Amino acid sequence: MVTITIDYGSCEGCGTCEALCPDVFKLDGEKAVVLKEGGSDSCNLEEVVQSCPTESIKVEGMDIKFVRKAPF
Ligand code: SF4
Repeated sequence: MVTITIDYGSCEGCGTCEALCPDVFKLDGEKAVVLKEGGSDSCNLEEVVQSCPTESIKVEGMDIKFVRKAPF
């Protein structure tokens, strides 16, 4: 069982998490909110976490190693 949280201080409302996983994340104004704290089978949480540009998504109960993309 996982618990997903968003750091509202750093979320910049880019919408990437909602685009990748609309079952779990939704933009509410200028911030994303979590619709399902336990995640969804239709969602690749690791991909979402890695894709957040501000590292605002935390998933407790899942071993996700944050991989910085190499600069070009
Ligand atoms: S991907 Fe990150 S910065 Fe963008 S809306 Fe989601 S939580 Fe906020």
